[in-house]
Amino acid sequence: MKYDYLIVGAGLYGAVFAHEAKKAGKKVLVIDRRDHIAGNVYTEEVEDIHVHKYGAHIFHTNNKNVWEYVNQFAEFNRFTNSPVANYRGELYSLPFNMYTFNKMWGVVTPEEAAAKIEEQRLVAGISEPRNLEEQAISLVGTDIYEKLVKGYTEKQWGRPCSELPAFIIKRLPVRLTFDNNYFNALYQGIPVGGYTKMVWNMLEGIEIRLGVDYLEEKETLDALADKVVYTGAIDAYFEYKLGVLEYRSVRFETEVLDKPNFQGNAAVNYTDAKTPWTRIIEHKWFEFGTQPKTVISREYSSEWKVGDEPYYPVNDKKNTELYQEYKGLSSSQEKVIFGGRLGEYRYYDMDAVIASALEKCKDELGN
Ligand SMILES: Cc1cc2nc3c(=O)[nH]c(=O)nc-3n(C[C@H](O)[C@H](O)[C@H](O)COP(=O)(O)OP(=O)(O)OC[C@H]3O[C@@H](n4cnc5c(N)ncnc54)[C@H](O)[C@@H]3O)c2cc1C
Repeated sequence: MKYDYLIVGAGLYGAVFAHEAKKAGKKVLVIDRRDHIAGNVYTEEVEDIHVHKYGAHIFHTNNKNVWEYVNQFAEFNRFTNSPVANYRGELYSLPFNMYTFNKMWGVVTPEEAAAKIEEQRLVAGISEPRNLEEQAISLVGTDIYEKLVKGYTEKQWGRPCSELPAFIIKRLPVRLTFDNNYFNALYQGIPVGGYTKMVWNMLEGIEIRLGVDYLEEKETLDALADKVVYTGAIDAYFEYKLGVLEYRSVRFETEVLDKPNFQGNAAVNYTDAKTPWTRIIEHKWFEFGTQPKTVISREYSSEWKVGDEPYYPVNDKKNTELYQEYKGLSSSQEKVIFGGRLGEYRYYDMDAVIASALEKCKDELGN
């Protein structure tokens, strides 16, 4: 065998595994069917701005080990995610906090805000929510639901909130402080120079072949390595023989604008039902850009079908059971490690996918 490991997928899972395997003295080949590395965290340079091609990515974690790990490969800036909600031209701070409540009701103190929410919850009088609409109103009252939750959620799921199950919203975080920081994370930022550069640094000195689809040349590629780390879709690996695992997809419309500032913030969510996009990302603000132009991406939530880019796994009962069946099949593939968001059919944040790859490396390589 020419290689100890063939790594299918140059996303974060594959890149971490490849880096650790090389460090352990193993011979590694990384392939990806796309024409670039970095998987879904790929950033592409447009007008000197790092554009997050597969959706906005903000690194945030409470895991100190993972934070130190990624800091070997990139310096992180101090970007803090503070999205703004645009409801028919009215702007509100997210997540729901004292700035939001002051704008919504004119309340000034946390007691006034808490009393207002409580008053609306009581008026709604919902004790056992039967759907997402009732669940949201029972948690935050009608005003926040109508202006900031309803339209956005309906666009995301493509169905009225009254027809969506209540369990989707277990809680809606309400902060009685003036704090627009979206994530409750100790560490947060964007890699200076973009994610692609960070992943290049992880893959330094490792052989990479791009534009190679593993499943199309499986036999030939398998013959090259003792073991395979597969981070593609698990159902595709088994030729969908038990059925297709479903995803929710997103469509992006990206535009270069001949002006330095379009919306003054990295993310603006459109929370009314009429605006067809869910949000607009202005990429330069992830890195405090000073370029003369700007690049924006409108995001549209969409149904997914085989062949579309898979984004969010649908973790309902049907798909979870189907995944368990595929997972059962995967144990018969002794030579193959299935990992990452597609290989494990699971929504992973970046820090979690890195932690998962590092854990696997410990078992496999003793690192
Ligand atoms: C819209 C969106 C926004 C997100 N925002 C954030 C965020 O703000 N913060 C955060 O922490 N996380 C975020 N995430 C999660 C983040 O994208 C994932 O944690 C991460 O991309 C997972 O890495 P991965 O290596 O498992 O998968 P991927 O990045 O998908 O890598 C898998 C790679 O395998 C390749 N591949 C698949 N099949 C084959 C094949 N047959 N042959 C060859 N190659 C193949 C693919 O081309 C791909 O490059 C977001 C996810 C989405 C969908």
